[in-house]
Amino acid sequence: NLTDRLSRVVKTMRGQARLTEENTAEMLREVRLALLEADVALPVVKELITKIKEKALGEEVIGSLSPGQALVGVVQKELTAIMGDPTAGKLNLAAQPPAIILMAGLQGAGKTTSVGKLAKWLKDTQKKKVLTVSCDVYRPAAIAQLQMVSEQAGADFFPSTESQKPSEIARDALDWARRHYHDVLIVDTAGRLGIDEAMMQEIQSLHQLLNPVETLFVVDAMLGQDAVNTAKAFNDTLPLTGVVLTKLDGDARGGAALSVQQITGVPIKFAGVAEKLDGLEPFDAERMASRILGMGDILALVEQAQKNVDIEQAQKLADKVKKGGFDLNDFRMQISQMRQMGGLGNLIDKLPAQFAQAAAKQDMSVADKQVRRTQGIIDSMTPQERMKPELLKASRKRRIAAGAGVQVQEVNRVLAQFEQMQTMMKQFKGGKMARMLGGMAA
Ligand code: GDP
Ligand code: MG
Repeated sequence: NLTDRLSRVVKTMRGQARLTEENTAEMLREVRLALLEADVALPVVKELITKIKEKALGEEVIGSLSPGQALVGVVQKELTAIMGDPTAGKLNLAAQPPAIILMAGLQGAGKTTSVGKLAKWLKDTQKKKVLTVSCDVYRPAAIAQLQMVSEQAGADFFPSTESQKPSEIARDALDWARRHYHDVLIVDTAGRLGIDEAMMQEIQSLHQLLNPVETLFVVDAMLGQDAVNTAKAFNDTLPLTGVVLTKLDGDARGGAALSVQQITGVPIKFAGVAEKLDGLEPFDAERMASRILGMGDILALVEQAQKNVDIEQAQKLADKVKKGGFDLNDFRMQISQMRQMGGLGNLIDKLPAQFAQAAAKQDMSVADKQVRRTQGIIDSMTPQERMKPELLKASRKRRIAAGAGVQVQEVNRVLAQFEQMQTMMKQFKGGKMARMLGGMAA
């Protein structure tokens, strides 16, 4: 998965301050493969990669993130933005009652189960009076199945028989709902095993007859790539208003979510996460993005790094550099700022397990130690020495090394690092400290 893929590439990208064409090309190839592995359809993947590339180029690498982590942050954010919608977990019930919800989808997608789940949710959390009806006169026991889940949900059920026409059933149920003051009428329909012209016509005429406020396309997440064709067929036939993605409790990688979203342009509103009637959740785009990418909470990591880089402090430092006053005190402050983030090891801990291992935790703890040692060396200097590093001749260096318990070479290393940073900072305009912090941490 992406985690494994990226961890291989990440190492080659350390120490770079910005995402560029060159340093992201290889990463983007890996992202592309990961999306394909997660069963996102090929045309959708192509479109996504173009978008992600646009977003990523020029992106600054913030805080203690490496460019690899930063790119993953961009990918995750983009996927979340594509799949996310403010109407997730909500239904439009703004209609002259009863508000009608029409369910559409292939056989076995989870329509009938979802009717029960929605009825329960509407009743329990929205305090709605719900009526359900089945227009599935083809599948044996389909009507009885709906009756059972409706009873479990505590919703009213409008009985129908297999000898009736779906349109008749729908009309009668609507009439009944009006006369009995139901807030919501949920209409279950028949699905075929595949796309079928007669089925499409039937649901289209049901749609015309009922004029529903919500037309929900129910789709099985396990369909993977095949979800694309189904979604396209239903989207061409019906003005869909939302998607219910079912069976997410299975081992589907979730690529179907992205494909269906891209094909229909319609929000995924709910996720089915169990067979039971309480197994319905508002669709969570961020979680789905993680699932598709196969990784832990990268976004939290990105946010943490952003929070911890004190922009104001950075600005002051940048001003100081411009006036030529950047000294070892400032250098030390920066190092401690990095340590406030909990050290590199701590950040790495927030990555998914495989990633953390692959990113060579050992490297990180070595780097952490290095940072602590650097701080110790600067602490052994007098305030005057910190302000004027040019005072540091051999004897002073020996004294500092002894004080910090290190070799003189180590003191020289710190001074070289400081000089390097001083030069680097002179090249930056004000407010670009984040980049430098990125460079330091990597
Ligand atoms: P329909 O043909 O579209 O009406 O599909 P059903 O509602 O009859 O569901 C088909 C099968 O999928 C049934 O065995 C359901 O219990 C199961 N099912 C539906 N939704 C979910 C879900 O979110 N998770 C799991 N694990 N099973 C589900
Ligand atoms: Mg059914």
